[in-house]
Amino acid sequence: MFIVFIGPPGSGKGTQSNRLVEYLGVAHLSTGDMLRFAVQEGSELGKEAKGYMDNGALVPDELVVDIVGLRMSQPDCANGCLLDGFPRTLNQAVALDEYLRENEKALDVVLELKADEAEVISRLVGRATTENRADDDSETVTKRLKVFHQQAAIVTDYYKEQGLLEIIDGMGSPDEVFVRIKRVVDSLGND
Ligand code: AMP
Repeated sequence: MFIVFIGPPGSGKGTQSNRLVEYLGVAHLSTGDMLRFAVQEGSELGKEAKGYMDNGALVPDELVVDIVGLRMSQPDCANGCLLDGFPRTLNQAVALDEYLRENEKALDVVLELKADEAEVISRLVGRATTENRADDDSETVTKRLKVFHQQAAIVTDYYKEQGLLEIIDGMGSPDEVFVRIKRVVDSLGND
């Protein structure tokens, strides 16, 4: 099963995607995690990506599309994966479609996790102190959310037109949210 999981930073997307990959037994591709790892490693990709990430801006499409393509061609993604944080732009969405079509695969569903903005900001600023993430101070958080909302509408409209978009209410406990996600995923192929 190929799933795109969209949600603003702080929406609980990380927690829910971890649960979902475990439930479905598919690979988890988080471009945020992959890019943070590249920065830590000090690889060429990491050096190029760091400035954008520290500013709360998107990393250029070419870089992100390349790492996702490489990752998706690995054997553990042959039967599916959960894409977390990708695609974030129309170019990325089109590149993903092309990749899937060339490999005779297709997306099953696009999940959009919606959460209250004030709740999201307070969660993110709280996370800065516990995880010591340089990109989570309040100014950067606000910038990241603005970038997210500007871009997300383009991507979600694109998938809505294809009839792939499912909106999930992200408010409530992690268990409550996961029940809503499972309901959507379990119904696939049954309608
Ligand atoms: P995330 O953990 O998904 O919020 O990503 C953290 C940061 O990594 C973002 O603020 C971007 O700078 C970068 N990033 C992650 N995924 C993408 C993507 N699909 N396209 C561009 N930049 C990305």
